[in-house]
Amino acid sequence: MAANRGSALIAGAGIGGLAAAIALAGRGIDVRVCERRSEFPEEGAGIQIGPNGSRILRDLGVAEFLESKVATPDALSVRDGATGRELTRLPLGHWIAERHGAPYWTAHRRDLHVALRMRAEAEPRITIVRGTEIVSFENEHDGIRAITGVGETLDAQLLVAADGLWSGLREQITGSPNAGLIPVGKTAFRSVVPAEHLPPELVPNAVHIWLSAGTHVVHYPVNAGRDIALVVIANDAARFEGWDSPIVADIVKSKVSTFAEPLRMLVDSAANWRKWSLYRMPELAPWTSGRAALLGDAAHPVLPFLAQGAVMALEDAITLAIAVASRDGDVEPALREYERARRTRVAKVAEASERNGRIYHMKGPAALARNAVMKLTPPARVMTGFDWLYGWKPGPC
Ligand SMILES: Cc1cc2nc3c(=O)[nH]c(=O)nc-3n(C[C@H](O)[C@H](O)[C@H](O)COP(=O)(O)OP(=O)(O)OC[C@H]3O[C@@H](n4cnc5c(N)ncnc54)[C@H](O)[C@@H]3O)c2cc1C
Repeated sequence: MAANRGSALIAGAGIGGLAAAIALAGRGIDVRVCERRSEFPEEGAGIQIGPNGSRILRDLGVAEFLESKVATPDALSVRDGATGRELTRLPLGHWIAERHGAPYWTAHRRDLHVALRMRAEAEPRITIVRGTEIVSFENEHDGIRAITGVGETLDAQLLVAADGLWSGLREQITGSPNAGLIPVGKTAFRSVVPAEHLPPELVPNAVHIWLSAGTHVVHYPVNAGRDIALVVIANDAARFEGWDSPIVADIVKSKVSTFAEPLRMLVDSAANWRKWSLYRMPELAPWTSGRAALLGDAAHPVLPFLAQGAVMALEDAITLAIAVASRDGDVEPALREYERARRTRVAKVAEASERNGRIYHMKGPAALARNAVMKLTPPARVMTGFDWLYGWKPGPC
């Protein structure tokens, strides 16, 4: 075990908080992770983990807890929603694993979360405390003091606010009352169905994307191919908080009524739908306040059109740990370095994701032009255009 090099407090045992805990503990830092939930219910649906994320999971020792649960899709098949015609089939599988030295995985969020927890629980330097909400903090001369929802105080050398999209600590860290989330007028409807519900004409081991004006649908295998995660993203003015609001199946069916039959059959087969509203946030300044730093969705919600939300939290986690360890106790400059290293990268990913969303939801002549370009562009050329995304490796801070 590495020599003791200080202590960290993390608010939020989600994807980013647990990854940060493992990365910090691996560098000799004692970590207490406070999670406001007392249980981890099996919420959520699918999550895609590109090579930039699976590489980090491997380096953190998480992959061995996850590998038996993921799927490794061979391709990303993009279809016209109304006709069902395939517009392009982009290579994943061996092609992307060889190109980037790490696989493209699809998983149930629950399985990713369980794997991170198992890895964290096996690490003697990490303590996970459930049912404890961090509500505020005070920077002190040589440390930071966090205050919990019941008024308890917890001391550490740094505080990582990995408290998710609806972060309560964001305002205190940014010092800005205008950091509000802006609803984008779209909702994601999610479900998971057994794989035998996949219509036989659709390739089972692929990520499928169906495009239509104002709506697109994505489905891919999870749970080692035994289940299919389905997400319908559609224009929808409703706004709500949380990841687990139930929604009646008929509303989701109405969103895909103009889609080709195999897709409608798949959507019809799902009974248990959950919805969440999509939000964007103006770029925040700053992500850090003294010894406290935002991480993951709390710092920068990323729209799901590039499937990078969870992976950005993983990239943040490893970057923060490297920065803190390399400064050896000099926390404040380390956190500022972390922020500098992440800001440009995350802004680029957020912008690319928004652009994808506009392309996916095009209508009329613009959609026809998009379809023609997709058909004509060599698939490998499309994918090499994403080398900047999937080829990311943590650098020295
Ligand atoms: C229950 C749940 C289900 C989800 N399902 C999906 C899904 O199916 N597909 C998908 O793409 N994305 C899903 N997400 C979002 C996804 O996990 C994140 O967008 C992404 O992984 C970024 O991770 P994060 O660590 O920043 O935030 P999250 O993974 O959201 O974790 C934030 C954590 O902080 C905790 N928390 C909040 N406030 C406090 C506080 N003050 N003190 C202590 N703890 C606090 C929350 O309970 C949560 O566990 C889900 C998130 C949650 C919480």
